Amino acid sequence: MFALLALAPMVLAQENITRVTLDATDAPARLFHVRITMPAKPGPMTLLYPQWIPGEHGPTGPVVDMVAFTVSAGGKRIAWARDSVNMFAYHITVPEGATSLEIAFDQISPPETSGFSSGASTTSELAVIAWNQAVLYPPGLPANQLEYQATLRIPDGWKFGTALPIARESGNTVEFKPAPLNTLIDSPVSMGKHYRTIELGREGSIEHYLHIAADSERATEISADQIQHYKNLIAETGALFGSRHYRDYHFLYTLSDHVASFGLEHHESSDDRVRERTLLEDSAERYNADLLPHEFVHSWNGKYRRPAGLATPDYSEPMKGNLLWVYEGLTQYLGEMLTARTGLLTPRDLRAKLAMVAAELDREPGRLWRPLEDTAVAAQLLYDARDDYANLRRGVDYYDEGTLLWLDVDVTIRQLSNGKKSLNDFCKMFYGGAGGAPELKTYTFEDIVAALNAVQPHDWAAFFRARVDAIEPHPPMGGIENGGWKLVYNSTKPDMLRVEEDEKRHYDFRYSIGLIVKDEGVVEDVIVGSAAQKAGIAPDDKVVAVNNRAFSGTLLREAIERTANAAATIELLTKRGEFYIVRKVEYEGGEKYPHLERDESKTDVLSKIMEPLVKK
Ligand SMILES: [Zn+2]
Repeated sequence: MFALLALAPMVLAQENITRVTLDATDAPARLFHVRITMPAKPGPMTLLYPQWIPGEHGPTGPVVDMVAFTVSAGGKRIAWARDSVNMFAYHITVPEGATSLEIAFDQISPPETSGFSSGASTTSELAVIAWNQAVLYPPGLPANQLEYQATLRIPDGWKFGTALPIARESGNTVEFKPAPLNTLIDSPVSMGKHYRTIELGREGSIEHYLHIAADSERATEISADQIQHYKNLIAETGALFGSRHYRDYHFLYTLSDHVASFGLEHHESSDDRVRERTLLEDSAERYNADLLPHEFVHSWNGKYRRPAGLATPDYSEPMKGNLLWVYEGLTQYLGEMLTARTGLLTPRDLRAKLAMVAAELDREPGRLWRPLEDTAVAAQLLYDARDDYANLRRGVDYYDEGTLLWLDVDVTIRQLSNGKKSLNDFCKMFYGGAGGAPELKTYTFEDIVAALNAVQPHDWAAFFRARVDAIEPHPPMGGIENGGWKLVYNSTKPDMLRVEEDEKRHYDFRYSIGLIVKDEGVVEDVIVGSAAQKAGIAPDDKVVAVNNRAFSGTLLREAIERTANAAATIELLTKRGEFYIVRKVEYEGGEKYPHLERDESKTDVLSKIMEPLVKK
């Protein structure tokens, strides 16, 4: 009865709706079959495949994997020609009398686990659907004015989760309600054989869901403690922002060693992919503790409020990344602080992470030529940049340096206001509003400065210009130091570094001899100016032996430790291509690891920031 009434407006609007059917029953074989019916008028027409993917900050649409493409009208094939400059555009001529097109193509999901949503997205047990890989659209209108209605066929016996509102389900077919193209593309679907949905808490009419898809039943077994931490995340973000800009929120948590590992934010959901046993292994869980908090924060910072240069009307217009130190940097800061506020990490673990972040950024000779802002402007290049000489190139530093930068802002506000104001006040003001449904409000650098000034007057423009635009040999340490802590190095290995080494399968000697070595001896990177580089070692060399004994990370670590009180030569037999060379690393000082140490001369503001906002 209710369904029949709801149908009426759909029927009226039908001729303007593009209908997409995605057959995902061959997902385990890494093939998606797409059928589209699109309204059309006779004459020349262009069809666009989404190129610039929101949240990926680059032209990452996998058009190369779009195959078996045909266009017909009234049952007759129409010739198409790809634009010779824009590889994402197809030109056709719609025949006289035609009112719609039938479009078909297959989308290949690659086996490679690198990349974001264009990387591996299916296994024989699960799949994640990114709708930008299943649509074409005409140029001219912004994506929020193009109406799409999607239908999805899922493999037999699989379950699914998505933020996209459902009209009806029958068998393995899911028919979704019509939605603007930007909402469709912003609403991925996760599905799988081993699937579990957990309710994380309701606020008013807004419900929060955690959908877990995994390569095994065992890997979906989330503990009561873990569930409680994510329930705390819902409560803590409510207290931080004061309103929510979504109808419901869905975490699509995918656990597999065979899909790309990343997090991708959406307004009403997030596509969060980690290794299969993340919920079962302490190291993996702690390593990924900030993933869901980070992606969730993006619903406010990134989706609701977005830098004007990233809020493009469609998927053809290039994005401008210069404010990613706000979009990603502030999100990274809030995501990290939320790990402590929710119990996902202990304050001690989070301090260890901050020490590692500060130390790593301080070991970057690339700081001497490239300002932080350029890492944001060049984001579309840097996501794909290799690890070799990363310290000289700099990577997407606006994430981790954003943590230090916004900690500096938070501590500065607290100090200038004598503890009366904090960045939490900025969050409530800048990200507040009526809420209850997705909305987009763009901002500029000047808007950020004005909002901060409304919370606590200060020369915020100069504050950011000095830390973001300028060449700055050291990362911003004001937040840590004025927050009552200092960065020190000693010979005690922090447990969070062990966690990172386990997850990255490498040994991190960057603070002593200046080397990062993969488990099997291949040099991931050499810090420019370090003892290892002076000995002639380069990235991609393979360390074969340490002081005449076959390489192991532990052996090299012990050799470094023996230099604690006396200079020594560590002889590394290395292989470069086909040639073996002995490299003599002259070094003194032993193994060194970064830590935050309490500075008793100052108030401990940092610990205050890590406390939950919701009193239990
Ligand atoms: Zn992010």
